Amino acid sequence: MPELPEVEITARRLDGALGGTQIESALAPGINALKTFEPPLSALADRRIAGIGRRGKNVVIAVSGDLVLLVHLMSAGRLQLFGKRAGARDRSSRLLVRIADGRELRLREFGTKQAAWVKLLRADELAADEALAKLGPEAWPQPPARLGAILHAPRPLHSLLRDQRVIAGIGRSWVDEILWTARLSPFKRGDDLDEEEVEALRAAMAAVLDRAIEHYEQVIGLPIPDKLPMPLQIHRRQGEPCSHCGATIEAVHYEDYVMCYCPAEQTGGKVLKDRRLSRLLK
Ligand SMILES: [Zn+2]
Repeated sequence: MPELPEVEITARRLDGALGGTQIESALAPGINALKTFEPPLSALADRRIAGIGRRGKNVVIAVSGDLVLLVHLMSAGRLQLFGKRAGARDRSSRLLVRIADGRELRLREFGTKQAAWVKLLRADELAADEALAKLGPEAWPQPPARLGAILHAPRPLHSLLRDQRVIAGIGRSWVDEILWTARLSPFKRGDDLDEEEVEALRAAMAAVLDRAIEHYEQVIGLPIPDKLPMPLQIHRRQGEPCSHCGATIEAVHYEDYVMCYCPAEQTGGKVLKDRRLSRLLK
């Protein structure tokens, strides 16, 4: 589930390894993850990778000749660098960028869903591309100065903070960590935050994302592993004691994800109704 910290470390490591190298060729095998037609992938041949960075949860690969590869990993994609070419039986690769020195950058996707995508754009088209044009301000390294105004909406924080049009980079894992660190209920409405709570949220956002990236800086090298060791303290820890206060961590299950929180610190001791459980009991 790559979010801002996971995409940031991926971009940093790949930039360090591939910045300045020459592309031999690129192809998108199997079901096409490539969402653009012009310029064609063949335009990448013999170009140089100028740099690899991040915007929100997107990876931005700048290529000489004013071209840009925009990559979204969605929930199960990984950008990984290999020392040699993929074999004919490789079924997980959606994009292969062959480097002139024999290495290969692969956009791989695990699981049955094919959702990760790539766009090859001209550099001057990048900002206007729909994937970036609607992105809110970055959550990191500095949370937006107008955080209170940005979050001033009648929606629960848990959904607001994950909305990339509101603020870019946070997803299902890190939202739990940020709200827990700020000691705020996931169901508190954005327009119901007082100034002190906005400041707590801002501090939590910076601290949690900083800590995650710092952790990855220590433990992640190349090749980037399929599964990143996420330093989570509340997300996916239902039933365990909270490391702040010892209360049992509770969860609310949704269709395809789980929200975790500490009732003692975040919801005034109240255990929120778990919809999955109540559906099962009907
Ligand atoms: Zn607690």
